Amino acid sequence: MVPIFNNKESFMRRIPHWFGGSKHDEAERYVPVFDPATATIAAELPMASAAKVSEVVAVAKAAFPAWAATPPLRRARVMFKFKALIEANADRIAAAVVAEHGKVHDDALGELTRGLEVVEFACGIPQLLKGEFTENVGTQVDSHSLRQPLGVVAGITPFNFPAMVPMWMFPVALACGNCFILKPSERDPSASLILAELLAEAGLPAGVFNVVHGDKEAVDALLTHPDVQALSFVGSTPIAEYIYSEGCRRGKRVQALGGAKNHMVVMPDADLDQAVDALMGAAFGSAGERCMAISIAVAVSDAVADALIERLTAKIQTLRIGPGTDKRAEMGPLVTAQHRDKVKGYIDLGVAEGAKLIVDGRQPQLLDGATADGYYVGGTLFDGVTPEMRIYREEIFGPVLGIARVKSYKEAVALINAHEFGNGTAIFTRDGDTARTFAHEIQVGMVGINVPIPVPMAFHSFGGWKRSLFGDHYMHGPEGVRFYTRLKTVTTRWPTGLRAGAEFVMPTMK
Ligand code: NAD
Repeated sequence: MVPIFNNKESFMRRIPHWFGGSKHDEAERYVPVFDPATATIAAELPMASAAKVSEVVAVAKAAFPAWAATPPLRRARVMFKFKALIEANADRIAAAVVAEHGKVHDDALGELTRGLEVVEFACGIPQLLKGEFTENVGTQVDSHSLRQPLGVVAGITPFNFPAMVPMWMFPVALACGNCFILKPSERDPSASLILAELLAEAGLPAGVFNVVHGDKEAVDALLTHPDVQALSFVGSTPIAEYIYSEGCRRGKRVQALGGAKNHMVVMPDADLDQAVDALMGAAFGSAGERCMAISIAVAVSDAVADALIERLTAKIQTLRIGPGTDKRAEMGPLVTAQHRDKVKGYIDLGVAEGAKLIVDGRQPQLLDGATADGYYVGGTLFDGVTPEMRIYREEIFGPVLGIARVKSYKEAVALINAHEFGNGTAIFTRDGDTARTFAHEIQVGMVGINVPIPVPMAFHSFGGWKRSLFGDHYMHGPEGVRFYTRLKTVTTRWPTGLRAGAEFVMPTMK
């Protein structure tokens, strides 16, 4: 059980809220933030009450009219400066991610770069906000459409990408002219504070971007506040569904991205070395704590399954596991002790359900210098995973790869399409016809052809299907601009001296 601190006076480092252009760390309640590589408490975090959230919403609301009226080109200039500041501070931000999340430093830099690409996309906001104009929709009547910001919008983000996922949201929201309140994960909140300071340094006015820490109480306060116009959420499916239904019920715009169980099909004609390398990175990178991680390899034929197992086993057994600060490490610890125990529990469950445990990560061999108390789980491989098993149906979110054996391409597609999640998937094949058919008929939002983690770039949009996404708009790219703006259409006629007289019937083009 994580202890709840109530010490208003503390000598421990505090990670403050950020609103109105400054830090605030007062709270009724604090929770510890851990270093997962050493299992020690690194800092404490104030948990916002509903009253604190209301205070932050009021600050953002007050900042909105001036920011919304700021020309898009000036808003873009803030984004250009922000981009340069992120680049200059990349190592510092990555180090904050490593210290609280546990992933290896280069991987933290990688997630930051993917977030930075959304900032680069947002730099183009004058072009992206251009509306449409039609001359003469009627005689001497013109129409134009424009997109306007929503007001105060909020983002609630998960632990696994503490820099990238917030940056899927706020660069586009801010560039569109909204004021943003970020509620980051309470497990690894420091990166969002650095980003807030850099936005201020880039010239963003106070109150336009705010960070409030908290748990269900803070999230519910955002969800129910009448001045919060829209919510972007990324996290587990039960919470995504809750945010979506409660937010929509209150008339808010909501995009809520949930969990995943991503399959990678390996066809008999695939380049097996390429497929094995892809599986290693996609299953064990970031210790499997990615919503686009591959957790099931669907081997089309027993021969493919046996060949994959033979090649994967040695590689998994020699994964270099240690703290994210160790340059040699390929895989760091899991985020918390509870999550480590949950993942180990799934390995126990897989054995009990009858899957064949080929590599057991429950007692991993660590690099020298690693602290054994860190929340480590080693790479794990199961064979004979079948659809009725919970280790097949449920998201494990750890370094556990299962092999499901099927006899045909059709069986592989039917398996994936029957799964409740539809975030990402991939197929490895040399056959163009199979690849194209797969891309067409698979019921999944993001598809890779010989690409294991097909995360769309910033100028496309990110999102899954089925119970991996609730809402109508995906994150960033054109969908992000649509999500954070409302369409208005203006129809204009200027006095010309001609009088048509009063019209009592519906105007039409005759
Ligand atoms: P989580 O659902 O536990 O938490 C996400 C956010 O919701 C956090 O900010 C948390 O404080 C808040 N929250 C938690 N419980 C809440 C409650 N009862 N009421 C209101 N708010 C609550 O998720 P997590 O463990 O931080 O992240 C891992 C999950 O996120 C995985 O399921 C993963 O697949 C998913 N994820 C999905 C995507 C995607 O694009 N689909 C991307 C990244 C992560």
